[in-house]
Amino acid sequence: MASARKFFVGGNWKMNGTKAEIDGIIGFLTAGPLDPNADLVCGVPACYLDYARQKLPATIGVAAQNCYKVAKGAFTGEISPAMIKDIGAEWVILGHSERRNVFGESDALIGEKVAHALSEGLKVIPCIGEKLEEREAGKTEEVVFTQLKAIVDKIPADKWDSVVIAYEPVWAIGTGKTATPQQAQEVHGKLRQWLSDNVSPDVAQKTRIIYGGSVTADNCRELAKEADIDGSLVGGASLKPDFVHIVNASQ
Ligand code: PEP
Repeated sequence: MASARKFFVGGNWKMNGTKAEIDGIIGFLTAGPLDPNADLVCGVPACYLDYARQKLPATIGVAAQNCYKVAKGAFTGEISPAMIKDIGAEWVILGHSERRNVFGESDALIGEKVAHALSEGLKVIPCIGEKLEEREAGKTEEVVFTQLKAIVDKIPADKWDSVVIAYEPVWAIGTGKTATPQQAQEVHGKLRQWLSDNVSPDVAQKTRIIYGGSVTADNCRELAKEADIDGSLVGGASLKPDFVHIVNASQ
């Protein structure tokens, strides 16, 4: 990665964990040692956000894995950015492929969520990525640019410091099939160019674009060497002690 952008690693716990298991994760993260030059944020299930925030060191960020697009009201089962902030968490992951593909979230809804979360002062990790059939049909760029545009259109000019974009090819998530560093770099480079052309060269240079999809302690270093890969978003491997190596991949 380019040295001007701080390495960023997100751990997405998905719908995993009990208090006892979370204590174990907090234990290995606290023991580290973690690279002080990397940002680390854990994506925690909603019911454990408060618990994790209270127990994790302040140097480790806490993210919700989703939130709704308005402040409060009759939206049974949803949580708002204001609630996430109220318990002391700072981040939210939005538009994860599981939200898109299991729960049917549209580009438009994800854009609205990004807008509201930013307006409430949360930092956001919006996710984009193509499915296998889209890649095989040569549609990767078209898909990720469309997804990115729906998000970018909702980001005010003064909020870019609160955004970390995650490129997560759907075929690589939870499958053990990591994109090669070259495959990932190719898309990251195009995303950065798109930001330069459609937002500004400054935003393109400063915004972190992280890769997600079967990142492990074995492949994280090669990915981290690529010029436009500024870190990773990690599912399964973020639950295990090896995650420390992934956080330290740019050292
Ligand atoms: C994810 O949940 O964002 C993810 C990339 O999962 P995994 O690392 O398990 O592929």
